[in-house]
Amino acid sequence: MSPAAPSSGSAGKPVDPLVIRSLDFLGPMATVDGWRPTNELPEIAFAGRSNVGKSSLLNALVRRKAFARVSKTPGRTREINFFIVNKQFVLADLPGYGYARISKARQAEWRPLIEGYLRRSPVLKGIVQLLDARHDPTDDDKQMLDLLAEIGLPTVVVLTKVDKLSKGQAAERLKLIAKQLELDEEQMIQFSSVTGEGRNDLAEALVSLLASTALDAAEHPSVPMASEGDEALPGTGPGRDE
Ligand code: GDP
Repeated sequence: MSPAAPSSGSAGKPVDPLVIRSLDFLGPMATVDGWRPTNELPEIAFAGRSNVGKSSLLNALVRRKAFARVSKTPGRTREINFFIVNKQFVLADLPGYGYARISKARQAEWRPLIEGYLRRSPVLKGIVQLLDARHDPTDDDKQMLDLLAEIGLPTVVVLTKVDKLSKGQAAERLKLIAKQLELDEEQMIQFSSVTGEGRNDLAEALVSLLASTALDAAEHPSVPMASEGDEALPGTGPGRDE
């Protein structure tokens, strides 16, 4: 199946790396062992603490004013909500964690559901982790990033609300947060849902994530290691091991 490739640009026109042609709500996952929509398409999840600007970012990403509203409705705020985009990939909106005004016990509730989902989703290809550009990462943010590193999931870090900072401040914050988290600055995107800054960078990052996983699937089987007495037959099927 073809990856979500952007149409090639022509004559200086800005090209949207991710044109949204269709968007459907697939349903929620509410508990660790609960139902979740069956899905064989590649999945990308979005994570961040409550109030980081995730709903606003998702709305900006898909260019719909109230797309992420479903995740904000009472009863849905602690669920993972799944959407299918362009019939090509699935977007998983993880519940916001670490809301400061709720008790410690309630704050810790996010972990089993999110961790269970992350560990048990074979089609999950990557995570977009949101951090508020103005603040240092919280303990929850660090836990989340440690978990992602441990599981080995490709992670795109997005710094939100950069419109609240000057260009210089935003650049400084990016450097500092990258240092604090030992991340590559290249892995981070500055984003504002108010100005639209970073929307296309994020869209591009998603497209390449999806394209690289599609390539993995399509290309790797074609290079079987030739072992002695086992003639590799170029151009034949993958012959995947069980
Ligand atoms: P969520 O809880 O992570 O889904 O966060 P929301 O998207 O609901 O945003 C929380 C608050 O931050 C709201 O008051 C938004 O209007 C505001 N907000 C979100 N993104 C931005 C942004 O890029 N710039 C500014 N200035 N405010 C933002």
